[in-house]
Amino acid sequence: MERKTERAWIEVNTGNLCHNVETLKKAMQPGCELMAVVKAQAYGHGAVLTASYLNQMGVSAFAVATVEEGIALREAGIRGEILILGYTDVRRAEELKEYDLMQTLISYEYADALNQQGVTVKAHIKIDTGMHRLGIACGELSAVRKLFFMENIRVCGMFTHLCCSDSRQPDDMAFTRGQIEKFYSLADALRDSGIILPKLHIQSSYGLLNYPDLVCDYVRVGIALYGVLSAPNDDTVLKPDLRPVLSLKSRVVLIREVRAGESVGYGRSFTAGHTARIAILPIGYGDGFPRSLSEGKGRVLIRQYVAPVVGRICMDQLAVDITDAEGITVGDTATLVGAEGYDELSAPAVADHSDSISNELLCRMGARLPVITRSEDRRFHTPE
Ligand SMILES: *Cc1c(COP(=O)(O)O)cnc(C)c1O
Repeated sequence: MERKTERAWIEVNTGNLCHNVETLKKAMQPGCELMAVVKAQAYGHGAVLTASYLNQMGVSAFAVATVEEGIALREAGIRGEILILGYTDVRRAEELKEYDLMQTLISYEYADALNQQGVTVKAHIKIDTGMHRLGIACGELSAVRKLFFMENIRVCGMFTHLCCSDSRQPDDMAFTRGQIEKFYSLADALRDSGIILPKLHIQSSYGLLNYPDLVCDYVRVGIALYGVLSAPNDDTVLKPDLRPVLSLKSRVVLIREVRAGESVGYGRSFTAGHTARIAILPIGYGDGFPRSLSEGKGRVLIRQYVAPVVGRICMDQLAVDITDAEGITVGDTATLVGAEGYDELSAPAVADHSDSISNELLCRMGARLPVITRSEDRRFHTPE
């Protein structure tokens, strides 16, 4: 049996990944390029594995959160542009250059300090249009303009981030349109002052799905690339046929009977009312399966059954009730996120049950679990 599937694992459907890339490209305006956001182990899908497939599909722009994530991609041979969306200590300028990574300029002071390192670095300017997180205020025309003349900074792009593009409430939509307008008026003012504009980008997944008419050079797609929305009931203007890429799986390693009055797990929070059959799965919150799904809130699919979680989810294992299920044996596969037969535990639904969003649920799985690929698509080879 394959080592990686002994205990608990992530299964990546590369055919669906490929399908999503093609579907999203069709949804984008002509001339716009897909920038694949592969931060946090590509939302749990494995950054190197995902980026390698994307590279083979012709995707040549990537975004990560940290310099380490960027270096890891380069060391694995990923080609194309890699933009670091977050903060990097300016003393790492040499590495930015060596690994050909593009750094986000998060403020004027930051750009100034980076410039003073004496190493030429490629960069994208982050503009704050209302998120008030990273970026130079959109009104600071002269400060932004100066960045184009810094000796060691090569400005390759300029971008902003929308803070409520997932919402279709009129006030949120008005706010988002305001963000877009502010960004474009800054770009226009730069152009009017003689600057040749670099690549411009605004949208992440929801920006594309809700504001598909925007004309930009890149769309920074994360969650939609992985085939899911953040929340189960989100409504979007575009509704492309996106297919979930990730499944979370584990295996039944032990089946036991507990009698009426006996409890299972920490805190004795589950006490059997009658004789019950319990299956133990070696997966827990240490693998990214949320502890808040304890005590019946979480479910898993085993064969054709939906088995509820009983007791508290532990760091490394959990228990499910299989009293009413027949034919389940040790070694059976359990699906915690994903489809099995006619049933599906979708990432948005599982995330919603645990008071979170798919983005968090998926990226927390990336730390301990091995990733395997499943695809009938033989056009691409699996990187080792
Ligand atoms: C994470 C991130 C994205 C991707 O967002 P999704 O909603 O997953 O598509 C895009 N842009 C920035 C700046 C980000 O931090």
